[in-house]
Amino acid sequence: MAEFSCYVCSGKVRTGEKFTFTKKGSVHFDCFIGSRRKEVPAEKHDQLRDLSLLLDSQLSYLLDVLSIKNGTNGENETVNTAYKNSEKEAGETTRRISEL
Ligand SMILES: [Zn+2]
Repeated sequence: MAEFSCYVCSGKVRTGEKFTFTKKGSVHFDCFIGSRRKEVPAEKHDQLRDLSLLLDSQLSYLLDVLSIKNGTNGENETVNTAYKNSEKEAGETTRRISEL
């Protein structure tokens, strides 16, 4: 996996860590939610909490699928499709959190 740095803490994103991509670049899940919590107005904190729980579970699933993908011998269309779909869903939730 290519190496990414987190734009919040400047630390490296390691394999197996939950991270996502926003317009600003790559970011750890915890750093992303922590920074959004400071920026999002208090009346939207319930929405932020719900979306962060959703993204957390989507990123866990994505990492699980990625480890299956890395363990497959050659191309496995079902695994590739599951990976692309889960990546897209996590991206969509990230976008919603960015727009709160
Ligand atoms: Zn970070």
